[in-house]
Amino acid sequence: MFLDNKPMMKEKIMNENSIFAQICEYIHKDTGRKNESSKLIVVIRLLILFMAVYSLINCIFIALTRNFGALAFAIASLILFIFAFLCSYHWSSFTSYCALNIYALAWTIASIVCFGWNVGVQHFIIMLLVFCFFSKYRHERAKLLYSAALLVLRIYLYYYCQSHQPVFPLGTELADFLQIINTFFVFLSLAAIAYIFSADSQELEGKLIEYNRQLVKQANTDTLTGLYNRRSTMEYLDSLLKNRNNQISICLCDIDFFKRVNDTYGHDVGDVVLKKISETFRKELPPDCFVSRWGGEEFLLIFPKLNGDEAVTALERLRQKIKAIVFDGVIETFSVSLTYGLVEYDYHSDLTTILKEADEKLYLGKESGRDRIIF
Ligand code: GH3
Ligand code: MG
Ligand code: MG
Repeated sequence: MFLDNKPMMKEKIMNENSIFAQICEYIHKDTGRKNESSKLIVVIRLLILFMAVYSLINCIFIALTRNFGALAFAIASLILFIFAFLCSYHWSSFTSYCALNIYALAWTIASIVCFGWNVGVQHFIIMLLVFCFFSKYRHERAKLLYSAALLVLRIYLYYYCQSHQPVFPLGTELADFLQIINTFFVFLSLAAIAYIFSADSQELEGKLIEYNRQLVKQANTDTLTGLYNRRSTMEYLDSLLKNRNNQISICLCDIDFFKRVNDTYGHDVGDVVLKKISETFRKELPPDCFVSRWGGEEFLLIFPKLNGDEAVTALERLRQKIKAIVFDGVIETFSVSLTYGLVEYDYHSDLTTILKEADEKLYLGKESGRDRIIF
């Protein structure tokens, strides 16, 4: 029994899904016209659809009370909203936009005159106000004038209702019910307008943040190796030396006989070596070690929490790892080594002095046979 019901339930869900999919298809149909915002026409159709459903609900409940004058008005509204929906396929976005504004405004006035203030139709004026400001058209002065006109109209209609009886007076129960329905549809319309139009700006903001992030990354990193460049390294060192709380060790290192690599195996293989060595730095050094490409085949490694002896241990491990890498030079395989000049920050010297000291140690390492750490 239970199992038998399953296919029926599935079919029902599929039917519901397909009705929803069909409505979505009708709303999105023919929205890709040249030089037109597809979002605007989608919002217009959605609002008209809401109004049509709203009118249909009105028709049903007014019919139950046998108020035939009010029923005729609700049926006429329903027909006109369906007509407006169909027209949106033939008109441009701008024509549909103007038509919806004029039509919704006329309908709101007529509804207030017919049913009075208590039904709550006047809230649709606020929906029109929001709709006009969210639309892409940049007639700022016209928008301000339109909002002022809506404000005056709303106040005028309030006083009009104080001194005039509705054309089709409704019972208190029906008026209360319609008040709830109106509130619901106004909220629904406002949410749809805000959601669809704000999605645009949120998407744009997200793209801008990502674009900015990429720009900053490009300005701070070396394109070949992805390591920090000299500019960002100087900034980092400046801030590090200003807020020093820990031991700091700085190492300048340089690939040995790199010119020979280029000359023997070609510049492209040289680039592969630079990339692989940079990757090994990132993989083998402590995570807080700042690794930068100082120039050509020279790198600056900054250990913000290690004293000289600790940095020597980390560098020795690195030295062996790099030496063990086997590169494919097409004609043969080969390996490379680096020479390292290490200094421990003494809390007195300035940046230029420290870097000069590291450079001198590197030179000493090169002079004394390369492939070694000088501390
Ligand atoms: P030493 O052991 O004394 O440092 O010798 P070396 O050959 O490494 O030093 P030298 O300064 O004579 O040569 C450095 C070479 O690095 C020359 C240059 O073409 C090469 N080089 C610099 N930048 C790049 C690069 O981005 N890609 C490649 N493939 N080579 C580069
Ligand atoms: Mg070199
Ligand atoms: Mg060099």
